[in-house]
Amino acid sequence: MPKAGILQHLHVKAGPVDKVQVGLHVARNPMEERMKILTAPRMDRCIGCHSCSLACARLVHRHLSWDTAGIRISSSGGLSTGFEARTCLACLPAPCVVACPTGAYSQRRGGGVVVKKSLCIRCGECARACPVDAVYLDPAGEPFVCIHCGRCVSFCPHDCLELAELEARGEGDRLTEEGAS
Ligand code: SF4
Ligand code: SF4
Ligand code: SF4
Repeated sequence: MPKAGILQHLHVKAGPVDKVQVGLHVARNPMEERMKILTAPRMDRCIGCHSCSLACARLVHRHLSWDTAGIRISSSGGLSTGFEARTCLACLPAPCVVACPTGAYSQRRGGGVVVKKSLCIRCGECARACPVDAVYLDPAGEPFVCIHCGRCVSFCPHDCLELAELEARGEGDRLTEEGAS
C-alpha cells in the first residue's frame, strides 16, 4: 500500500500509445495532450506467468531478467492464492524525482517519471524515495521503473492490465478504469 499522504488520486480512461521519449515509449495523446498510465484493474485473473514483466524487460529496458522490468508480479502472500502487480503509480509530484540529485529522473507531465539513463549515477535515491517500492535496482544499482508505455498490456493472456488515460489530477479526482478502447 502507498505511504499515506503522498499519492494524489487520479481520474483516467483508456487510450492509444504513440510517443517515444528518451529511447523509451511514453504514452501520450497528441490531440488532447492527455497522458496515460499503466493500471492493473483485473489482477484477480492473474496466473503469475510474468509475461508482462518479461515483455517490459525485453522490449522496453532491453534486459532479459523480469527483475529489470517496470512491472513486477508477486504473490499476494498469506492465505491468498492471488498475485499483485507492483508498478509506478504516476505520483504528482513524484518523490523519486524530488530525490534524484542529477535530473536522471524528471517529472512527467501529469505524473510519473521521464528517465534519462545517461544522467544516472546509480545512487539509489529514487528507489528509496518511492512509496510503493516501484523502482527496482539491479545488482549494479541501475534503476528500472515503469514509464507507462503500455507495451506489457498485450502480452498478458488474461487481460489483467490496462493503459488508462489521465483525465484530471486535481484533489478529489478519482482513479477509474473505463475500459480499453
Ligand atoms: S516510481 Fe516515482 S512516480 Fe512512480 S510510484 Fe514510485 S515515487 Fe511515485
Ligand atoms: S507500461 Fe511499459 S514500462 Fe510500464 S510495465 Fe508496461 S511495458 Fe513496462
Ligand atoms: S502477464 Fe498477466 S497473468 Fe501473467 S503475470 Fe502479468 S498480469 Fe499476471
